[in-house]
Amino acid sequence: MTNTALTRRTLLPATLLSAAGRARGAGSATWRAGVAAVTITPRQSMWMAGFGARTKPSEGILHELQAKALALEDAASRRGVLVTADILGFPGTVAARIAKLVEKQYGLPRAALVLSATHTHGGPLVVSPRPGSSYWRLNDQQWRDAREYTRELEEEVVRVVGAALNDLRPARLGFGRTTAEFGVNRRKMTDKGVRSFVPNPEGPVDHDVAILRVESPAGVLQAVVFGYACHATALVADTYQFHGDYPGFAQQWLENRHPGARALFVQGCGGDITTHPRGTVELAQKYGDTLAGAVEDAIKRPMTAVHGPLRCAWNVFSVAFGSAPSRDELRDQLEHKDPLARAHARAMLAELDREGRFISQHPYPLQAWQFGDDLTFLAMAGEVVVDYALRLKRELGEDKLWVAAYSNDVFAYIPSLRVLREGGYEGGGSMRAYGLPAPFASDIEERIVGKAHALVRRVRGK
Ligand SMILES: [Zn+2]
Repeated sequence: MTNTALTRRTLLPATLLSAAGRARGAGSATWRAGVAAVTITPRQSMWMAGFGARTKPSEGILHELQAKALALEDAASRRGVLVTADILGFPGTVAARIAKLVEKQYGLPRAALVLSATHTHGGPLVVSPRPGSSYWRLNDQQWRDAREYTRELEEEVVRVVGAALNDLRPARLGFGRTTAEFGVNRRKMTDKGVRSFVPNPEGPVDHDVAILRVESPAGVLQAVVFGYACHATALVADTYQFHGDYPGFAQQWLENRHPGARALFVQGCGGDITTHPRGTVELAQKYGDTLAGAVEDAIKRPMTAVHGPLRCAWNVFSVAFGSAPSRDELRDQLEHKDPLARAHARAMLAELDREGRFISQHPYPLQAWQFGDDLTFLAMAGEVVVDYALRLKRELGEDKLWVAAYSNDVFAYIPSLRVLREGGYEGGGSMRAYGLPAPFASDIEERIVGKAHALVRRVRGK
């Protein structure tokens, strides 16, 4: 064991305040809920995940990063655990190792464990077998440190799941929605085609804030889960302190307001959504405070009671890539002026030499939780663009559907057909950063939406 990462191993189970909570009148607690958190900030300098433009490892800590688990159990003892973490994303391999241990140690099936990331660009690099070309600057020691951190993170997440399950006690669930206006589309059409990373106030957005309130039978807040669709990049590449970006500030705000309770942020389909303006701690804090304030207002009001049973479903299918570049194209790319493009060409040529061909598809995990007739929680993998959330809510009923993304595997942007056709970063350019051979095939949207409909029908039993 090196001194790489997590030396602080204290779990922080939430403790309820004594009966100081607001009484909310009668209401039988048919649920049990448990919550726990663990600090996952590395204790030493490490390479940070997210921006290809970073030139050096981290320097210090702005605020702590955490992994949190909310365990829910219905009246028939069916359980589900939602994990959220202040990292860029759980790679599929990391999620699979965690899920396997969780199943072995706690008997929780894969469908009942959601592993979701806030997509902060202020966390450490978590390593996957295809880490992508954004990280071409790391030296061998930095890679070793990142792999070590990844293993320790896996252990910590397994432990925090166990701690949440150990914390189960009677609870009431409420669901509600509010809005926050700060997310802006970041793709703009110009004479020369689409440009990414340009705020476009006319582009599609999803300003919904979905909220799950978890409270004791006496009305004391135990946990609040809140979702919003917007990239956690209010702070940019020149911030080298570990931080949770606006979701980190929002969670902190709510936990300060409700001592003993935990706030869990769930990233939505914010692949092509940005904060604007951005680039300072003050702005990240402002967006976090805005979001937290909206959540606070909503949880003080009456919310829709959420009943059981809890039904969890999981489906993994493949998504296909379009035609890959030729060896000649990749050789030309070795001369590209962008070092990331050169690194990508080197990696792709090495893969071609090693394997004789490129991967043509990737597994795509999709997960749905159904809460009685009250709420469907759909967890999508990857950096899903906003078109998916808008379409799925339209087609499956926006009042009872919560669409989460960045869950269970973050291996690529997931463009809609519109975004794929328009191109730009989210449509295909980002495949380089992710170390993938080509943009998705043109059936990507229909394939994922079709599978989502089938999965939601399954958990809804209709
Ligand atoms: Zn992203």
